[in-house]
Parts: sequence; structure tokens; C-alpha cells
Amino acid sequence: MGNFRDNLTKLVPYEAGMQISGSDVIKLNANENPYPPSPEVGKVLRDYKYEDLNKYPSLGVSDLDKAIADHHGVDPVNVLSGNGSDEIFAMCYKAFFNSNSPIVFPDVTYSFYPVWCDFFDIPYEEIPVSASFEINVEDYISRENGGIIIPNPNAPTGIELELDSIEKLASGNRSSVVIIDEAYSDFGQVSATQLIRKYDNLLITKTLSKARSLAGQRIGYAIGSEDLIKALGAAMYSFNGYPLSSISIAVGAASMRDDEYLNSTIRKIQQTKGKTKELLIKKGFELTESKTNFLFMTHKNISALDLCSYLLEKKILVRHFDQKRIDNHLRVSIGTDDEMKKFLDEVTEYMEDRDVI
Ligand SMILES: *Cc1c(COP(=O)(O)O)cnc(C)c1O
Repeated sequence: MGNFRDNLTKLVPYEAGMQISGSDVIKLNANENPYPPSPEVGKVLRDYKYEDLNKYPSLGVSDLDKAIADHHGVDPVNVLSGNGSDEIFAMCYKAFFNSNSPIVFPDVTYSFYPVWCDFFDIPYEEIPVSASFEINVEDYISRENGGIIIPNPNAPTGIELELDSIEKLASGNRSSVVIIDEAYSDFGQVSATQLIRKYDNLLITKTLSKARSLAGQRIGYAIGSEDLIKALGAAMYSFNGYPLSSISIAVGAASMRDDEYLNSTIRKIQQTKGKTKELLIKKGFELTESKTNFLFMTHKNISALDLCSYLLEKKILVRHFDQKRIDNHLRVSIGTDDEMKKFLDEVTEYMEDRDVI
């Protein structure tokens, strides 16, 4: 007789940024948006007819899918929405990565990518980024692979690839699916959504968690050719017949239709980021050229882990990765001006107390 413990999963889950709450906590560790979602979202929730929750959400193209398609100027057949892009990725792995060849992604990137490989038993290969954390697209051309997944801008470095690099990835890998994770692209300059017309092997994923301030609602989506979206839908609806709640559909649609609010939030974050970056450079920090809502920083005379623990004591949460190549870096999400001032004040105090120059 066996023991049920022998049959429990050995999976090691993704470790997300710590979630502690409290009005005195400054949370700069999960790239959440410091500003609330669009006021249109508030209106939808206030007016929501709770009585209607007795019914399952509508099947087929939802109002959210229509709003997403309108926003990007594509057809609803090119859109699939899900519970955060994390769920979309999991379904992508199931739908697209069924060859025996390894899927490839950078060695410094979103640490969820290898977790899904273990979940679905998919082999993978990590391609080293350069010493300055740049992705070289040539490394992804003429290399046998069962698929490619890359964030643009990359996380946690924030570095963005040009559109022609994305095109090279798609055109140089016509026999595999290339996924571009655009979680932060609203903050950057590049989006490859229009390339799906030209490359039926290209899939773009997006989220409402970051620029649209809806991390708590869990909404993400994919844009791609009709064939890819059909395969992705087949995986998704084999797992959950109604992936998005009626509330998510209504809230997401309202958010997707309010670009003015989106742009005003992004502008505020960009301004705060610029000021924060400038002051950190004056203090001797080295930062990547981040095109996102976070900074990726290191200081040659400071232990990142020690500074991270010090800030935690001061109730300021930032993200440290216990991972080779980046273990002396911190990833700091951009909060409000006030939050960043408190962050900078504590960094200054830390440095003065230790005579760091
Ligand atoms: C935050 C993030 C996502 C978004 O995940 P959601 O499940 O949509 O909240 C995707 N990719 C990267 C690289 C991220 O940092």
C-alpha cells in the first residue's frame, strides 16, 4: 500500500511580491498602480445589479472582448480574455507548446515562465541576457525551439526592445509560436499588436493589472491570429467554461473604454519616475533604462538585500530577487510623489548612517 503523501504534488509555485496591508505601509514591491482605477469602473460597480449574479456570464464574444478589440483596432475573433494574463499564459503553454523542443526565454525575466513549464512538463532553455541585461534577438533566430516567450518591456529590468526586433523574432521563427508579454507596454513606446496581421504565429498578451490599476480584479487578454485565438480558447474552455466573472467583464469593459484616464495616470507615473530616477543617480545608484512603472537599481557600495530589509522595517516594501546575476539589485515600483519622497528619505538615511558614498 502506498502513502498518499507520495502522490502529493512536488510543484514549487511562483512567489509573488509580499502582500501586507495597513495604511502606514508603502507598497512598492508588486508593480501595482498607486492610483485607483478609472472612475467609470466605480460607476459600473455602484450601479451593478447584484440580482443578475444568479446567472452565469454570457457566452461567446463579451462586452469586454468588444471593448478590447475596439481599443486595439482588431476584430473580436483576434481577442481572448482571461483571469489576469497569468491564466492566459498557462493556457498558452497548454495550447501552443506541445512539441518536444524546449521553449525559450531570457535568463533574467518574469520568474513565472519556468513555473508553468514544470506545471505542464514542458522542457525549457534560458538564454542569457547581456551583462547590461539587454536581450539580443539574434540569439533567438535559427535556434531550434518549441516556442518563445519574452516580455516587452522585460521584467524586472524594464528594458524595451524596438518594434523591428519583435518583428525579427516573429519572422525568424515562423514554425513556432512567439508570445510577447506586454504587461508594461502601456508605459513604454512599443506595442506589437498590429504585427498580428502579418504574423499568424505571434501572440501578444496584455493585462489590466498595471497601467489600468485593476490588479485586484484579475483581467488579462491575448491578441493574435484567429488560429491562435481558437487554439487558446480550446485550452481555456477545457479548463473553465466561464473564465471571467460578470463583474470582471463589466469592470474591464468600462476601463478599456477610458483611455483618457489611462493616459493621465501614465503621465503622472512617468513624471514621478523621472524625478525619482534623477535623485537615485545623484546618490550613486545605477539604473537600467526602464520603460515601465518600476525602477531596477543597484549601488556598488550597498547590499541590496540589506537595504531591502532596512526598508521593510520602515514599512516600505520593495522587491529583491534571490537569483544569480540580479541578487544585488532592487526592483522598486513607482508610487505617488509622496510615497517616493518617503522612500528616498529612508534611502538617504540608510546611506548617511552607514557613511555610504
Ligand atoms: C504583472 C505582470 C503580468 C501580469 O499578470 P496579471 O496576471 O495579468 O496580473 C504579466 N507579466 C509580467 C512580466 C508581469 O510583471
